[in-house]
Amino acid sequence: MRFPWDKYEEVPLERRNTLQVFMTNKCNLHCEGCFARNAIKENNCDITLGEYQLVIGEFLKKGGNQINLLGGEPLLHPKLKEILQINDENKIKTTIYTNGYFIGEYKPEDIKSAKLRVSIYSYKGKTKSACSLPKTSLAFDANFMVSKDTDLDELILSANHVEKNYNCKTFFISSIRELDNPRQEFFDDTAITMPVLKYKELVHKFLEKYEGNMNIHISKRGVFESTKTLPDTKCRFANYLIGGKIIQCPYDVVNLKFQKDYEFNKRNCQQNNACLMSKIILKRKNV
Ligand code: SF4
Repeated sequence: MRFPWDKYEEVPLERRNTLQVFMTNKCNLHCEGCFARNAIKENNCDITLGEYQLVIGEFLKKGGNQINLLGGEPLLHPKLKEILQINDENKIKTTIYTNGYFIGEYKPEDIKSAKLRVSIYSYKGKTKSACSLPKTSLAFDANFMVSKDTDLDELILSANHVEKNYNCKTFFISSIRELDNPRQEFFDDTAITMPVLKYKELVHKFLEKYEGNMNIHISKRGVFESTKTLPDTKCRFANYLIGGKIIQCPYDVVNLKFQKDYEFNKRNCQQNNACLMSKIILKRKNV
């Protein structure tokens, strides 16, 4: 297997100190692969604006650049617009991770300068499929979460669908990962995860067959290497849960491994190439 470099060029990754804020425990779905499920089943609440302001103050003091808003379902937070306003005032780059159900209920001006990343599990399935996305005037990136059942046709059909019908500019290929497997070992594949070598083959075939113009982001999963950016040995991520709970590495979220505080770019980590947050970015050469 080789990358079709005749079609794509790699874009270097901009490293950002990133805090993921689990801003609400509410969700309209109960996805099998939800890595926040143990965190959000505790209760059913939203982060308050006061708590969010404190989180942002601390984040800026620590040299943070990027906020990812997660849940639960962030678009169910009643103060989402105010939270995005705070981020804009502080010039913080923001991405909202959403299941897509409520994207028809917001206008572009509500989302301010944030990016929306909509996760898709299938082409035509009942939940979180490309075909079940509502009509919207919002711009968004599609994030296809590959599972053991994903095949090449549905990946291609989904990419073509979101590009044609929603004018998506970015198609992210990632994986549903089961992180609370018995050994709590993130290289283990379990019932819903596509085995890593099969994932590698699927991505290669997708890159060969896909003829659209979206940028393709690929979760590395330890089997894709960047040709532009050296792996980092310091962690630049942290997770904040409502009530002040901190978990540094997303791999620890399912298992609720809390810690007192977080720092960016200080904690050593040798897992960078398999890190949930690591990816490569490919751009079509003719675009
Ligand atoms: S795998 Fe390493 S770099 Fe990635 S979030 Fe966890 S500790 Fe940080």
